[in-house]
Amino acid sequence: MPKIFVDENFCQGCELCVEACPRHIVALDSEKLTQKGYHPAACIDDEKCTGCAACAMMCPACAITVER
Ligand code: SF4
Ligand code: SF4
Repeated sequence: MPKIFVDENFCQGCELCVEACPRHIVALDSEKLTQKGYHPAACIDDEKCTGCAACAMMCPACAITVER
């Protein structure tokens, strides 16, 4: 099953990945803050991920890795 990993050291909370995901399963984690003070993105429903990598392609910080 495909899965995404967000490197929170690079995530800037810009939400471009949230907008890019066709399955609407990426969201910022409002309960978490990165060391740089951003809410990091995370997949909220791994089972719905198709591994399309739209989120990773949109990320300006190259923070997302897709594992297929
Ligand atoms: S790989 Fe595709 S389906 Fe999975 S979280 Fe990213 S944009 Fe959404
Ligand atoms: S696009 Fe990249 S930097 Fe922006 S919120 Fe998503 S993972 Fe973080």
